[in-house]
Amino acid sequence: MTEPILTIRDLHIEFRGKQRHDVVRAVDGISLHLDRGEVLSLVGESGCGKTTTANAVLGLTTPTEGHISVAGIDIATADRKQMKAARAYMQMIAQDPYESLNPRMTIEDIVTEPLVVHGQQDDLRERALRALASAGLTPPEEFIDRRPHELSGGQRQRVVIAAALSIEPGLLIADEPVSMLDVSVRAGILNLLKQLADDKGIGVLMITHDLATVAAYSDRIAVMYLGRIVESGPTLDVIASPEHPYTRALLSVVPNHDPTVKTQPTLLVGETPDASNIPSGCRFHPRCPAAFEPCSQIDPVLLATSDDRTCACLLYAEVSSPA
Ligand code: SF4
Repeated sequence: MTEPILTIRDLHIEFRGKQRHDVVRAVDGISLHLDRGEVLSLVGESGCGKTTTANAVLGLTTPTEGHISVAGIDIATADRKQMKAARAYMQMIAQDPYESLNPRMTIEDIVTEPLVVHGQQDDLRERALRALASAGLTPPEEFIDRRPHELSGGQRQRVVIAAALSIEPGLLIADEPVSMLDVSVRAGILNLLKQLADDKGIGVLMITHDLATVAAYSDRIAVMYLGRIVESGPTLDVIASPEHPYTRALLSVVPNHDPTVKTQPTLLVGETPDASNIPSGCRFHPRCPAAFEPCSQIDPVLLATSDDRTCACLLYAEVSSPA
């Protein structure tokens, strides 16, 4: 079995809160892995810790505890040379293609910037043309000498992806890659990321609040709530039969494409609690429509509910084995 390109084990990230003694447990013990050629969507509401997790993988946030390994390089103990290799191996797809592209640069300069930063100065134009073509901007000769303001939002996001591809990464981290784009071009960008995983074997970690949009383009889903993964599994299985009440609630508000199917949305009461004041027991219990007596006292751990699925809910606690 080949080693995952990304492994996160028992990651904790804490920050100081607004009050002097407050500790914000932004990420509270998550573990996950991503294989070559796989798209994993990390899904949850704003503030659940998904972007903090991505920042830790990118080396932008220091974990309080835990272990992150990218292509076999331990991010915590990597020396400068290893960290440089890891930084080239993983590339970020930013959320906003309107802000992330320098309006004064040509598309060629933007796409080749990662190569220049990493000291790879040879054949820049050819490599830019290849990257643009891989990102679906064809023929690439039509785009390479333009500037960002001459492109649509979808084309700009493809330029962002081309810049990431220019250095031939093994891991793409895409943080809400389509949330700033027109609905009509979202599917094309998500399809491109899935194709890059399938055709080039790149692993894609997709960070999103929008379970419905990413579902068709992910191989696996991990649902986060208040710093923890509460459910994970193959996308089709999770969508067809969500186990955790939070996942069920997220899916219940997704419109069904079949107008004859009537779904009853589960409206969650209240806002997500503050990560500096995590509820006792199951952290979801104040909002959970299925909560029962022990939920306010017992903190459920993530358990295997089948060969490839996990869930952190007391409803499954007695029938499962530790994940
Ligand atoms: Fe709901 Fe209880 Fe399961 Fe938590 S443990 S998700 S409160 S049923």
